[in-house]
Amino acid sequence: MQGIAVDRLGKRFGATPVLRDVSLRVAAGEFLALVGPSGCGKSTLLRSIAGIEHPDSGRIQIGGRDVTGLRPSQRDVAMVFQSYALYPQLTVEENIAVPLAMRRLNAAQRLPLVGGWMPGARAARDSITRDVRQAASSLGLGALLGRRPGQLSGGQRQRVALARAIVRRPAAFLMDEPLSNLDASLRVQTRREIVAIHRAAGVATVYVTHDQSEALTMADRVAVMQAGEILQVASPAEIYADPQDLRVATFIGSPR
Ligand code: ADP
Ligand code: MG
Repeated sequence: MQGIAVDRLGKRFGATPVLRDVSLRVAAGEFLALVGPSGCGKSTLLRSIAGIEHPDSGRIQIGGRDVTGLRPSQRDVAMVFQSYALYPQLTVEENIAVPLAMRRLNAAQRLPLVGGWMPGARAARDSITRDVRQAASSLGLGALLGRRPGQLSGGQRQRVALARAIVRRPAAFLMDEPLSNLDASLRVQTRREIVAIHRAAGVATVYVTHDQSEALTMADRVAVMQAGEILQVASPAEIYADPQDLRVATFIGSPR
C-alpha cells in the first residue's frame, strides 16, 4: 500500500519489551495521532519507522516499498523532533536546504565526476534554491532566510524544522511531540499550520503526542498506545465516545 504499513514490530531494551507486536496502517493523505502516556513506546515506534531505531522483529513498508533493512536516508520519510535539531552555524536557508543537498550528494556518488565538475551542478543548485524558497515562504519564513537559529524565536525555529521536512516532498511525515516546547497560544496556531502542511503535501503523517486534546483536534484517526501495545485505532469521535476499554477511556478522558 501507499502510506505506511507496520507489521508486528517487536523491540526490547534489555529484558524490557517496549514494542509488543505492534501493527499499524496509515494511508497516504491520512493524519494519524499516536497518543499514550510517557514511556509507553511512542518514540520508539516512530523512530523505528524512521529507521533510527532498529526493531528486533517485524516489517515496515513505506510508499509500497519494504524499508525494513534500509537506512533513514533511503526511506523517503521526514522526521520533525521536539528539539528542532537545527544546525546553529547555518542560516535558515541553508538549514532548509540540507536534505536536498544530502540527496544531491548521494546521487553524485553514483555519477562520474569529470575533472571535479559535477554534471548539471548549476541547474541542481538553482532548483534547490527554488524549492527551499518555496518551502520557506509557505511557512512565512521568506524574510528570515539569512538568519541563524540563534536569532529566531522558538516558533520560528519550529517553522524552519517544518520547512526542512516538507522541502524534500517525502512519502511520510513523522513528528515527535513537535509542539511541546512552544507556549500555549503558539501551540494552538501551530497545530493548524501542521495540519495544513500535511493536507497540502498529501503524505502519510504520524504525529506523536501525549496531549489528548491535540490528538482529538488534529487527527483523522487516533491510535492509543499503552505499555508497548496499541489498544485502539479509530476516529477522534469514536475514540472519545466509544472507547474500547477502561484504559482507553481513562487516558482519553471519555465521559463514563
Ligand atoms: P514514549 O515516547 O512513549 O515516552 P519511549 O519510546 O521513549 O516512550 O520509551 C519507551 C520505553 O523504552 C521507556 O521505558 C524508556 O525508558 C525505554 N527506552 C527508550 N529508549 C531506550 C534506550 N535507548 N535504552 C533503554 N531503554 C530505552
Ligand atoms: Mg517520546
